[in-house]
Amino acid sequence: MKIAVIGTGYVGLVTGTCFADSGNDVTCIDINEAKIEGLKRGEVPIYEPGLSELVIHNSEAGRLHFTTDTAAAVAPAEVVYLAVGTPQGDDGAADLSAMWAVVKAIAPSLREDAVVVTKSTVPVGTNARIFGMLKEFTGRECDVASNPEFLKEGAAIEDFMKPDRVVVGVRRPEVGDVLHQLYKPFLRTEKPFLVMSPESAEMTKYVANALLATKISFINEMANLCEKMGGDINDVRRGIGHDSRIGFAFLFPGVGYGGSCFPKDVRALESMTVDKELTPAMLRAVDEVNERQKHVVSQKLDAHFGGDLAGKKIAVWGLAFKPRTDDIREAPALVLIDWLLSKGAKVVAHDPEAMDNVRAELGDKIEFAEGRMDALKGADALCIMTEWKDYHSPDFAEMYQLMGDPAVFDGRNLYEPERMARRGYCYHSIGRPMVD
Ligand code: NAD
Repeated sequence: MKIAVIGTGYVGLVTGTCFADSGNDVTCIDINEAKIEGLKRGEVPIYEPGLSELVIHNSEAGRLHFTTDTAAAVAPAEVVYLAVGTPQGDDGAADLSAMWAVVKAIAPSLREDAVVVTKSTVPVGTNARIFGMLKEFTGRECDVASNPEFLKEGAAIEDFMKPDRVVVGVRRPEVGDVLHQLYKPFLRTEKPFLVMSPESAEMTKYVANALLATKISFINEMANLCEKMGGDINDVRRGIGHDSRIGFAFLFPGVGYGGSCFPKDVRALESMTVDKELTPAMLRAVDEVNERQKHVVSQKLDAHFGGDLAGKKIAVWGLAFKPRTDDIREAPALVLIDWLLSKGAKVVAHDPEAMDNVRAELGDKIEFAEGRMDALKGADALCIMTEWKDYHSPDFAEMYQLMGDPAVFDGRNLYEPERMARRGYCYHSIGRPMVD
């Protein structure tokens, strides 16, 4: 099939590359010329395991192309995917300006039989609005489908190639069939291809993200309660997780969720409920608990240093909002660093992939360490903000030697409190009692 994918970010690039890998002829389009020029040279602008190899392989095979020329790429396409960003607007709702610009741009060159598909996360009713706009611009009733994406950054290729399910929202079954053909190579293990209305498909994506965010905020609130009551959240997790109605997934306490999806999608859904005159009590609480959780490490640091962090050297391990990505959007580490700088502390940070992105934002306000151990030299404390594998099993004796003061604030519960105490550390974690 000839496919155009508009918006070559995390989702658009992964979608286009995976469809090319299954034999389709795909053109990825973006307004960012530097990004497109780089991709033409085989330079992938984001860190995503396995993506670079697939982009190069499929480009060399002549199945994957990159351009800024929307009209030329859309004209021959049987399927046109819309994968532009839908960030949070000033009022909390999704900002759809890029989506509307693209709909306007593609209308004049769309084939009569083309299927336009929204891959971006868009509020309920967007599909209908795109249908109306295309009717106005083309004078025809174009097929518009919704196909929300559930991939996780850090495992995007794996998730796209082996989805738990594919959800499509269509108004005609024939459109569902076209998309089913496209997805068949990825559904060989009989994972479901779920066809529903565009409105249900749009809602499904928001509900999935809101539920995952709710699980995180819930376990974080319980972890904070454990700290106050003397329980250990890790034991509690084990105690509840074996109940098959509960399970273990997404119930890890930490420093709050970040990234480009959960925060904005919870708020966008909240804004939809307000528009419909409902009170989004749960969604508001999930967001509020999360915002508070992002300060949990700074509160512990503040208590440890008696409120005086001026001149203290604080090492930060992990900047990305989660491991295996360089994405720092709404990352809890950045909230901590902001606070540390406001207190006059000196920050030395390390991250295996995200340092360039943070450097672009913070410049020389903080120092960046080449290796994880380099960050620790003379540090008064170490804060762990992202659970990269690199941080799971460091040489604790070497760490102890390097640090000025062996105080560790582990926002991801990577280590055992008893062992850390035995090694001589003052070890703080989330929802677990301190051991002297
Ligand atoms: P992104 O910011 O990485 O990429 C968006 C791309 O669209 C950018 O490269 C931008 O230059 C391009 N763009 C903007 N306006 C354009 C225009 N008029 N024409 C062509 N290109 C244009 O965003 P993303 O993370 O890939 O997210 C895209 C959508 O997918 C969002 O709705 C997001 O919520 C959703 N989503 C993201 C993820 C994720 O993990 N990142 C997962 C599932 C769904």
